[in-house]
Formats: sequence, structure tokens, C-alpha cells
Amino acid sequence: MLLNGNFVKEKAIFLDRDGVLNKPNLISNKPFAPNVFEDFILYEDAKDVLQVFKKFFFKLIVVTNQKDVGKGIMSKSILEKMHTLLKKQMPIDEILVCTCIDECDCYKPNPGMLLEAKKKWNLDIDNCFIIGDSWRDIGAGINFGCKTIFIDRKYNMPMPYEPDFIVSSLSEAKNLIIKLNKESEYESS
Ligand SMILES: [Mg+2]
Ligand SMILES: [Zn+2]
Repeated sequence: MLLNGNFVKEKAIFLDRDGVLNKPNLISNKPFAPNVFEDFILYEDAKDVLQVFKKFFFKLIVVTNQKDVGKGIMSKSILEKMHTLLKKQMPIDEILVCTCIDECDCYKPNPGMLLEAKKKWNLDIDNCFIIGDSWRDIGAGINFGCKTIFIDRKYNMPMPYEPDFIVSSLSEAKNLIIKLNKESEYESS
């Protein structure tokens, strides 16, 4: 954003995909990425929530681990079809995907995708959030250095990290971010 001739750093919300924007496949109450297009079901509140975020000038960046694509369990064309739908339905600025099969910097909880986005969009880490339903998202946020919001969907899954905030839905995460955003604007004015 250009303000008084200066480039101002942007604020962003990093969104995990499965379990945040679309329903995961649950097996024994553990979440998995859907691997057929028919199972790619968006949450009803997601579009409205993202539209509200846009009104507050957040960049919206999806960061998702999709190892099954790298392994060949799911085809790249199905992934692309899912992401075309996602971008059509919601005001998303970018979707970053880790499909690496070997060790890499981008597989959450590694912060590689967030670091890439920071560079590309000139992000101010202090005004960034990550919203996720898994310890991997919270870990990525902590390793990156932004505020972390855990949507606790009561999975059978450990949480070895301490998220900054715990909510039960994406709408609740939205209310929280808007409140914090207003407080920070108040403090800086
Ligand atoms: Mg998830
Ligand atoms: Zn990777």
C-alpha cells in the first residue's frame, strides 16, 4: 500500500485450508485432506468471514500442506480444481502449497510459506495472524513470529504448542481479530 509516497507494510492473515475453509475428512476423529473433488466442501461461514477481513485490509494467504500430491496419492489437477473453486468463492490473495516429499522449509510447522509471503507482500509480522485447526499451523505461526489462533475442533490430536488464542470456529476467530485490530489502531493513533 502506498501512503504519502511511502510503502507501508501490509498486514495479513494466514489461513490453513483443511478444517478452516473446508471440511476435513475425519477418520477416528483425526482430520485428513479430502482427496477427491466431491469431498471438497467449504464451510458455510468462510466466505462471509473472509469478506469481513478484506474490509479491514488484510491480505489473505492460504498456507496448506498437501504431501499426498507430492506422493502421487492425489493428482495435481484435482488440487488445482479445488483451489480454483476456493479463489472463485472467496477473496483470497494467494494460495501457497507444500507438496514436497523430502524435508523442506515449507512443510508446517516450518515457516517457509509464511516467510515467502512476507517477502512477496512486504508484510509486517506484528500485524499478522495465522488461523489453523492443527498444531502444525500454530507451530508455523510461532516459528514465523506472528499471532496464532487455534480453532479447536476437538480432534483426537495433540497440541504441543501454546497458541495465543483458542476459539471454536472461524467466525469466532474473525471477531477476535477485528477486536485486536481496532485496539492496535487505537494505540497507534
Ligand atoms: Mg487443517
Ligand atoms: Zn515443502
